[in-house]
Amino acid sequence: MKLFDAHAHLTDEKYKDDLAEIIKNFETNNVEGVISAGFDLESSQEALKLANLNSNIFATAGIHPENVVSDFCDIVQLKEILKEDDEIAKEKFFERTCHQFELCLKKIEKICENKKVVAIGEIGLDYHFFDEYNEVEIEFFKELQKFAFKNQIQLANKLKKPIVVHSRDAMGDTLKIIRENPVNRESLLHCYGGSVESAKELIKLGYSFSFGGVVTFKNAKNIQEVVQFLPIEKILLETDCPYLSPEPFRGKRNEPKNLIYIADKIAKIKNVSIEEVVEQTTKNTKRLYDIKIKK
Ligand SMILES: [Zn+2]
Repeated sequence: MKLFDAHAHLTDEKYKDDLAEIIKNFETNNVEGVISAGFDLESSQEALKLANLNSNIFATAGIHPENVVSDFCDIVQLKEILKEDDEIAKEKFFERTCHQFELCLKKIEKICENKKVVAIGEIGLDYHFFDEYNEVEIEFFKELQKFAFKNQIQLANKLKKPIVVHSRDAMGDTLKIIRENPVNRESLLHCYGGSVESAKELIKLGYSFSFGGVVTFKNAKNIQEVVQFLPIEKILLETDCPYLSPEPFRGKRNEPKNLIYIADKIAKIKNVSIEEVVEQTTKNTKRLYDIKIKK
């Protein structure tokens, strides 16, 4: 019975003192493997570096929607342009920003030449904007994120890799883009927080779903409902560590060994044995990312 972490961030600085120790303990903690996800150029490079050093770690490379805004959009300049209310200037600025993103995506593509990069991710839409932005600015950010999401789906299709989707407060637009940009490999909605209805459609479009610590929280009734509905063949386990520790460690630093608490919760929701959950979810993760571990 071996666990597989379908989405984690092992290159996070919270592990800078003891990452070697954590990896060494995978075996005693029944962790067969971990997918360490990139969210910008640097973290994608770091994830690959780590994967190249460890046979049981694999990487994803991609630009997270929050980074699409923070890394490529000069917000001070954007505010200036939007104040002028000049459509042409705004359009030009949009094109320039997209171009910067495309240059970076070329570098991501280069990283993906390595076999240990098993997916493009995490990518998607995140509309959880903070109060400091006005409506027009937010609209601009949304358009940028959509551009980046579509382009990264196309890259994944070109490279015949799955995508790992992050979607927060944006399920409507996420579904729209996913519908209009079909993937050619089984892909993943990570930390899924959508409805049963959306899940039904996503299954038809070739997606599976990973669940982390949130499923163990008392107030996560809708996620538990989704888990109950989904066939176990569509469920993967993730920690999204160092974030989102499951109960009873909520609020503390998370790590792959905590997958067992998520498996336990899912077993209870689905009324099956924990062994079945672990075995099947590990199988699903290896299938989705096309992973064969060399012993
Ligand atoms: Zn993540």
